[in-house]
Amino acid sequence: MITEVLTANQLKKQAPVFGQLSFNDHEQVVFCQDKDTGLKAIIGVHNTILGPALGGTRMYNYQTEWDALNDVLRLSRGMTYKAAITGLNLGGGKAVIIGDPKVMKTPALMRRFGEFVHTLGGKYYTAEDVGMETSDMDTVREVTPYVTGISESKGGAGNPSPVTAYGVYMGMKASAKFSYGTDNLEGKKILVQGIGHVGEELVRLTAEEGANVIITDINQERLETVSSKYGVEVYKGKDLYAETADIYAPCALGATINDETINKLKVKVIAGAANNQLASENIHGSLLQEKGIVYAPDFLINAGGIINVYAEIEGYGRDQIINKTENIYNTTLDILNKAKATGMTTNSAAVSIADERIAAKKNQ
Ligand code: NAD
Repeated sequence: MITEVLTANQLKKQAPVFGQLSFNDHEQVVFCQDKDTGLKAIIGVHNTILGPALGGTRMYNYQTEWDALNDVLRLSRGMTYKAAITGLNLGGGKAVIIGDPKVMKTPALMRRFGEFVHTLGGKYYTAEDVGMETSDMDTVREVTPYVTGISESKGGAGNPSPVTAYGVYMGMKASAKFSYGTDNLEGKKILVQGIGHVGEELVRLTAEEGANVIITDINQERLETVSSKYGVEVYKGKDLYAETADIYAPCALGATINDETINKLKVKVIAGAANNQLASENIHGSLLQEKGIVYAPDFLINAGGIINVYAEIEGYGRDQIINKTENIYNTTLDILNKAKATGMTTNSAAVSIADERIAAKKNQ
């Protein structure tokens, strides 16, 4: 690859755009701006070989525009692999809107964003992600049909988060089966980081099974609510990453497995909802493998949400959604076994299966 042979300076001169950040054969990147509503958004279309690019819109108060661009590039690529590994006829895309959703999100801004999505003519379908609600997708639907995750009352499959959580739960159980010989989570100490839309439902599922669930979040109010609702403990220690536990479930933002945290980790399994958990797929994937920590690839086990929104396009019923999501259990076990047999990291094993599917379609 070009990045391995050129020095950083050469790269800047010779590949000032496509050689930077997380560009990775992305097909199209669209910058959208509207001064009247304050909209600044970037839509990343990574790959459309298997079908139209589908991926949620994240609204976040990025420190810099570079951070936003990097995020959309990484996230859209992840969506390509997520769809491919889950067996969906979809490509990978994602959008980010720059700004604090609590302050900047208005119906006018969402409609303007929807108009930009519409200009892509169905090459990209949007959906909900961090900082978005189902009602925001309903607003986008007013100006474009290329949106999923709209309300059930408006013909959509509703909030995808409970289905995402169910898929993560399936992946977690498969990882427990691989590591402990049983998928029963009763008595397992599980650290859930981030108890938002997905994390809370994961807490419910695991607590109901009798796991010893410990929760953490930056939102104190939510911690109190979720703790009393499900009778789970709030983390009181100083460093969650150094906590001895069975399972760590990252359900907040990505890149929590990084140079700083990796040496502290004392868990046996990592299985959570957050996208892009490994700061560097190669470096941190290998280090986890060396430490004997079983990592359930994020893009595989958090695919419940995309299954749910795909159902809207395909007209699937509830049973098909649940069956496909439950199949995450089998796919996770297959990948963990493939990694063990080949010596690959679990992330690489999952990527290689997804790549094979995309290549087969491309060469048809
Ligand atoms: P959310 O915004 O509802 O919840 C995120 C939670 O994490 C919030 O409660 C927030 O306060 C908390 N948080 C943020 N920073 C934190 C930190 N540093 N430490 C602890 N907690 C922190 O988002 P969500 O929809 O639950 O999604 C969670 C993750 O799962 C995201 O990475 C998202 O991309 C991914 N994901 C979500 C879906 C879905 O269907 N919602 C699907 C696939 C992947």
